[in-house]
Amino acid sequence: MQIDVESASDAQLLVAVRKGERRALAKAITLVESTLPAHAKRAQKLIAEIIVSADSSVGAGHTLSKTSALRIGISGVPGVGKSTFIEALGLYLIAAGHKVAVLAVDPSSSLTGGSILGDKTRMEHLSLADAAFIRPSPSSGALGGVTDHTREAILLCEAAGYDIIIVETVGVGQSEIAVAAMTDLFVLMQLPNAGDDLQAIKKGIMELADFVVFNKADIDLIAAQRAVAQMRLALSMLRPSSKFWTPHVMCLSAFKQDGLADFWQQVVDFRLKMQASGEFLSKRQHQALAWMNQQIDSALRQQFRQHPAVAAALPALSVAVENGSVTPAAAAQQLLALVN
Ligand code: GDP
Repeated sequence: MQIDVESASDAQLLVAVRKGERRALAKAITLVESTLPAHAKRAQKLIAEIIVSADSSVGAGHTLSKTSALRIGISGVPGVGKSTFIEALGLYLIAAGHKVAVLAVDPSSSLTGGSILGDKTRMEHLSLADAAFIRPSPSSGALGGVTDHTREAILLCEAAGYDIIIVETVGVGQSEIAVAAMTDLFVLMQLPNAGDDLQAIKKGIMELADFVVFNKADIDLIAAQRAVAQMRLALSMLRPSSKFWTPHVMCLSAFKQDGLADFWQQVVDFRLKMQASGEFLSKRQHQALAWMNQQIDSALRQQFRQHPAVAAALPALSVAVENGSVTPAAAAQQLLALVN
């Protein structure tokens, strides 16, 4: 019998999450996304429980076994075909016996209050599958906050038995860097002839990519193949981020579901190579440390701003910096001295 998630204690909630109950998982993610301090405390306990007691078959935290979940980041501009691809790939993986969770990091929500990825009608077929869990993007909050919660949501999905976690984001730079920092493998989706390759190289996104996938190859296969060749050449001039993996460039058609098996074969190969070299684990360890440092930075910043002396002095000093009567460095020194 399913628990009543509304009245369940946190311990009961965790048990239900571990049983793979989707409503409990959704509720637990809502808890970690909450901005209420009381919820934040409960959420931290829940996550700590999952990480510390992580049996390696689940693979929470950065512990790892052959069966632990694979975290895949997917990025691309709106319209490139992300949801078509994720839906097709998700159904393909479920047919092969996997459980697939899809989480979205949507930078538009913090900038405009709207949401590019949060549209509930996306991935209609996948959302009906029992072995799928799709979480639309949180509708508010700064990018940093949203991504913190996405890391926690990943752990919750893994505790619920999802072994493929897809984190989707729109290509605007900052969010891709955040997603690459929380996944094992980063896929950049592009369109042939879109001319955004150069943009991606300029923004430093290309260095993050383990896979570059040109979608919509059904429209013009020759153009897609040309784009693949050009991208391979461009990438050969960049320094690869791993000694053990050259970014894989390919074209496919998400719409026609053509190329999915080939894509997945390459993903399996990537994982095997990364695990054999030890890089898979070291990347997760590095990500866990970076997450800790990020948490320290944001907690310190919050404590600093909430300090009564800082809160009192900040408005006048900000005006002074704006009108040039105090230098930014001197103002920062004065404010920092208030908390020491
Ligand atoms: P997203 O904004 O990146 O999630 O893009 P969507 O998955 O919503 O796709 C945008 C449009 O492109 C939709 O009309 C899709 O049907 C279409 N589309 C997606 N993949 C393909 C493909 O492989 N071939 C063709 N011809 N159209 C596609």
